[in-house]
Amino acid sequence: MINSISIAEWKVFLKWNLIQTAAPYLSSKFVNESFKFQGTVLAGKKEMKPRYKRVQGSTDEALGEALGKLYVEKYFDDKSKKRVNEMVDNLIAAYRVRIESRDWMSAETKVQAQLKLDKIIKKLGFPDKWIDYTALTITKDSYWKNISAAREFQYKRMLDKIGKPVDRMEWGMTPPTVNAYYNPTSNEIAFPAGIMQVPFFDVNADDAFNYGVMGSIIGHELTHGFDDQGSQFDADGNLKMWWTETDYKNFTDKTKLIIEQFDAFVAIDTLHVKGELTQGENIADLGGLTMAYYAYQKSLNGKKSPLMAGFTGEQRFFLAWVRRKKKFFLERRGGGGEKKKSVFFFCGGGEGGFVKLGKLKILIIFFFIKKNCFFFFFFFFFFIFFFEIFFFGKS
Ligand SMILES: [Zn+2]
Repeated sequence: MINSISIAEWKVFLKWNLIQTAAPYLSSKFVNESFKFQGTVLAGKKEMKPRYKRVQGSTDEALGEALGKLYVEKYFDDKSKKRVNEMVDNLIAAYRVRIESRDWMSAETKVQAQLKLDKIIKKLGFPDKWIDYTALTITKDSYWKNISAAREFQYKRMLDKIGKPVDRMEWGMTPPTVNAYYNPTSNEIAFPAGIMQVPFFDVNADDAFNYGVMGSIIGHELTHGFDDQGSQFDADGNLKMWWTETDYKNFTDKTKLIIEQFDAFVAIDTLHVKGELTQGENIADLGGLTMAYYAYQKSLNGKKSPLMAGFTGEQRFFLAWVRRKKKFFLERRGGGGEKKKSVFFFCGGGEGGFVKLGKLKILIIFFFIKKNCFFFFFFFFFFIFFFEIFFFGKS
């Protein structure tokens, strides 16, 4: 590409890149003009987020773990961490029982599935080791100057990783993020402190509520380890077949039922959901709720669930889940204004798109590193970064 495109064309491209990257952080004229194309034409948004939210997002992007440290001091205590830890343990225990009781899976594959659960890396609330920002200088002079300094800092951090062992304890999300993820290439689940807040989790609420909402989210992420894509990665995060041939065929036969079920759903007017494309999220949603229910049962230790306001724990479990889904559905289908994605495509959180794009991103980044094309690597990274923010948001 370097040889086939003229210097003059490269100059235009680089100028355009700099302007469109800087525009959201300059004066209102630039910000509005940038939103007119990037926000409305490309992302289909009706209105811009208020400035305080945009600045908050930039701070999270630039200094996520410094901001996160302050955030967890204020909003995430040991009591919450202990409670969520117990929930995760009960969810994994429910998974173990469920795997053992599957009559379509051989003993051989069950051993590998249990090993995958043994080796799962659990990240709860915030990282054990915080990023050191001392090399980054933030001043009161210029917003854009701070943003570029932060990007340079992140870029150098990434380059610094080349040739070194993978840091498996590094986080892919910042602590205040209201989201969660499963990463198949490292077999890890992460739940930032930001999602462990009302309305998803309440340290003062009873287990029926917490398992119905937070439990089903934990179950959703765990199930991603065994969905159509996660199932192809082994306990160490390698793309390696760990199922026997017959078991994997049994598994894919079962996923076909979910594909058919979602194919039948009408998303908008006469437009049907493409079950093949959404199966990962659908498997995770169904599996997550099922596992959370069994985990709730386990938390009762054989006792009957307490009756509250005339409802049993089991009833309150499902009521809590439905309330969350209803809120989510309304926000995604127009109530929120900012997100126009169909709930069927992103049910369970935007992280579905993020993780899928993440794999592609990793592959392309490795391609560039192999070819020593750091120049393209640099532009690609920032292009993808904006693409993700505009199309998938952060929730
Ligand atoms: Zn998901």
